[in-house]
Amino acid sequence: MTTPRNASHSVGAPVKGFGIVRGHVAWRDGDSVALLEPGGSLNALMARGRDAWAEARGRGEEALARGEGISLEDAVLPFEVADYVDFYSSLQHATNMGRLLRPGGEPLLPNWRWLPIGYHGRAGTVIVSGTPIRRPQGQRPGPEFGPTERLDVELELGFVIGLPSALGEPVPVERALDHVFGAVLVNDWSARDIQAWEYQPLGPFLGKSFATSISAWVTPIDLLPRVPLPPQEPEPLEYLRTELLGFDVPLEIELNGEVVSRTNAKHLYWSVEQQIAHLASNGASLRTGDLLATGTISGDEPGSLFELWRGERFLADGDEVVLRGEGLSEVRGKVV
Ligand code: CA
Repeated sequence: MTTPRNASHSVGAPVKGFGIVRGHVAWRDGDSVALLEPGGSLNALMARGRDAWAEARGRGEEALARGEGISLEDAVLPFEVADYVDFYSSLQHATNMGRLLRPGGEPLLPNWRWLPIGYHGRAGTVIVSGTPIRRPQGQRPGPEFGPTERLDVELELGFVIGLPSALGEPVPVERALDHVFGAVLVNDWSARDIQAWEYQPLGPFLGKSFATSISAWVTPIDLLPRVPLPPQEPEPLEYLRTELLGFDVPLEIELNGEVVSRTNAKHLYWSVEQQIAHLASNGASLRTGDLLATGTISGDEPGSLFELWRGERFLADGDEVVLRGEGLSEVRGKVV
């Protein structure tokens, strides 16, 4: 088990973003919130595109500058989730997981460096930060049925689609960001025993679908600093070729008040532009409210407890996990 080097936070920039408070679309800056207009979700604003997003943010910033904000309070799920896709875009995570799940084999499967691997998840169980996590039951190796004994977290970024795309029309990689309303943190809660028994040959199913927690506030991506990603080898096919930019967002996993792992979104291999271009390359449309999660982000330190503790320990009842990312709204969840 890894002992935390320094258990205190290093992530602490003020959070900016859109959310839903008191039945209103709201803009948050730090601990102040401007109520913009009545609404139960951000979807209507999200569908209108970049100019509308900038105009709404401008109104929020002006209201706060005039002192018309209220104090930060609990916010609800900020948007109605349309489709939820979870990618697998961290080279370090995919390598670590390959070693843990298929010991003795080649950790990385041959397709991994050619396309952003992903699967369609369960949109209806995406929940807002603070919602308690009930330990799921399921079928695990044996086979036997019962409460998972290997409950884990996955620290991910999530990109929220605002502007939809037309069915049958691919989204060119250089236009992909036009569709992105903002970013959230994602905790893709995972039951490793259920996952290990069910995931071949079609991928994750009940080991992941019981709960996925996201931030209550959606941060515009132009507020997140961009950095070049590590070079891709081999060079991807033409529809995935673009300037390779990621996000320099320091990330932390906090367990029961102690930081146990630190990583950064800049360690991802595939970019959000490539994920979107790949998702739509067969003509599948983007919908307002789609949530595209990056997959667990591991670097020198991992984005899951499975990797951190090598399967020797998992979450216990009563454990509380908080995921933090610089400039993003935290994701909190307690196991009950
Ligand atoms: Ca995941």
